[in-house]
Order: sequence, then structure tokens, then C-alpha cells
Amino acid sequence: MVIDSRVPPSPELLAHATELVRSGLLPHADSQAVLAGPGGNNRCALCGHSIGASDVEYEMSPPPSGGASRAYSFHIPCYHAWKQACMAASAQPDHSPAARPHGADGSGSE
Ligand SMILES: [Zn+2]
Repeated sequence: MVIDSRVPPSPELLAHATELVRSGLLPHADSQAVLAGPGGNNRCALCGHSIGASDVEYEMSPPPSGGASRAYSFHIPCYHAWKQACMAASAQPDHSPAARPHGADGSGSE
């Protein structure tokens, strides 16, 4: 059985993942260990459907100290949507620090 993990998630799935990450219902994907295995009828943390034995389940273990206290299970496309949502969220911070350079208004400089 060949698992193609490069199938891009659908825009709807990605939008849903982005919403969950922004609202804090899903954690940010840092470097938590992810295990892949046959589905154990766990509920997918993204789409809410159960992951059957015929599906592959991605399970993200919680970090050993602090942070999330539970594991999250995902379908493969849901996992990739979540990862993409996390990358998009970290690339677009809510508040941008005013990093304009000073002194470029033509004053001084003799
Ligand atoms: Zn799912």
C-alpha cells in the first residue's frame, strides 16, 4: 500500500484548520512527535469524523512537559491541513511591530 502524503488538502479543510489554530482549539505544530498507524476509530481533531481501521491515523503525542495534555489524531489530509495552517499562522502575526527606520526624513546629515 502506497501512501501519498503529498496530496494537498482541500481549501475548505485548510480554512477549517486555520480557524481552529487561530481560536486555540488546535495547538501549533512545533516539533511534537507524530506517529502514523492504522486508525483506531479515534475522532479526527480536525474534521471530527472517526478514523477507521482502513484509514491511516496520524497521532500527535503531547510534549513531555507542559502544553497540550492530550494526543490529537488526524486523517492524513487533515494533518497536512493543520500543518499548513500552523505555518500560515506563524507567517502572518496579528500585530506587526512598527519597524520603520528613523532619521530617513532628510534632516541632519552634514
Ligand atoms: Zn479528519
